Amino acid sequence: GTPVSQTFIQKEGSYGARNYAPVPVVVDHAKDCLVWDVEGKEYIDMMSAYSSVSHGHLHPRIVAAAEAQLKKVAVMSRAYYSTTLGPLLEKLSEVTGFERALPMNTGAEAVETAIKCARRWGHRVKGIPDGMQRILVARGNFHGRTSTIVGFSSEQDYRSGFGPFCDGFQHFDYGGMESVKAAATEHTCAVLVEPIQGEAGVIVPPAGFFRDLREWCTQKDILLIDDEVQAGLGRTGRWFAFQHEGIRPDALILGKALGGGLLPVSAFCADDKVMQVFVPNSHGSTFGGNALAAAVALEGLKVLQEEGLVDQCAAKGEYLFRRLREVQAEVAPLIRDVRGRGLWIGVDIEPTCTTARDMVLRLAAAGVLSKETHETVIRFAPPLTITQDLMDRAVDIFRGVAVEKCR
Ligand code: PMP
Repeated sequence: GTPVSQTFIQKEGSYGARNYAPVPVVVDHAKDCLVWDVEGKEYIDMMSAYSSVSHGHLHPRIVAAAEAQLKKVAVMSRAYYSTTLGPLLEKLSEVTGFERALPMNTGAEAVETAIKCARRWGHRVKGIPDGMQRILVARGNFHGRTSTIVGFSSEQDYRSGFGPFCDGFQHFDYGGMESVKAAATEHTCAVLVEPIQGEAGVIVPPAGFFRDLREWCTQKDILLIDDEVQAGLGRTGRWFAFQHEGIRPDALILGKALGGGLLPVSAFCADDKVMQVFVPNSHGSTFGGNALAAAVALEGLKVLQEEGLVDQCAAKGEYLFRRLREVQAEVAPLIRDVRGRGLWIGVDIEPTCTTARDMVLRLAAAGVLSKETHETVIRFAPPLTITQDLMDRAVDIFRGVAVEKCR
């Protein structure tokens, strides 16, 4: 970084915990799909804050909704009713098809909510002795960073030294139905699963897996809980990734883009027969469903609906995918694979050539923001508002970096 950038980088480095290793770009401001650093250099945002900024940065309608609510009231807690939470819950029910939603703040909190709900449902409705409930989770999962959640991660970096962990989770191989069946016991109350494994490196499940899983869960009276914190709200080219699979889960977890790119907002969605296990005093959050967050989330959902961003995402994603595949062919053997759905694409780098991190740093220097996951995968997940022109510019820059690397 340059001198002005360095002062900010040094402050974070000196006074912050070292739990991130940021790309050395100091973001000053952003508009839609473009970001400017503190030196005034422009970047194309192909990462959108881990898929949170699906509407583009500071979408005018969402900013206006926030500003209007900031003239009224922001935080009053769920001790009272508000004029924005009810309308948000009604809209969520309309778009998800689930009868009820429980609002939280972060993705991990909504996942924790799902775990508590599933266990209590397993005990009170299914009759599993309390404390014996088991939840099946996939190898390679990512559901957040709380102690409970990292306790069932299969990633050593997320877990090592953080024990003791919570009991009651069993692993299956993502995409392997036989492995699901082998992991289940009479105490299994739920399967918690991502429709595409994002942090694992954008892993798309084999065709038919979710259909089989759905059928098996129904047969065994086990809840199928779909974590769409990253996949949901249009990212894959459908409103929800489960629609690609032709199934309906028993519960749905949303986060990230639910906050309209402005705020942390998450939700656990389910029908009454599941949600009924929550009664007053059983669960909650001081900030969950606050008036400002609800106003922002509601406007974000309306923008997705009214601007046709979900349909556009499918077509744009196909275009980006095709262009990245062209680069792959041109720079063989640098890129092992290009995979994903909608505007959520993983580019898998051949490790004997270089690392994903190296490519991400080079891309940033050349004006494209992306993110590595693990050693080999570069993730591209731009706002759904991205134009073809910007995708072309980003791919051309990527191509330049890749060609240079191959030389
Ligand atoms: N679930 C999934 C599928 C995610 O991708 C993430 C975040 N990457 C989370 C949960 C956790 O969300 P948060 O960081 O907001 O807690």
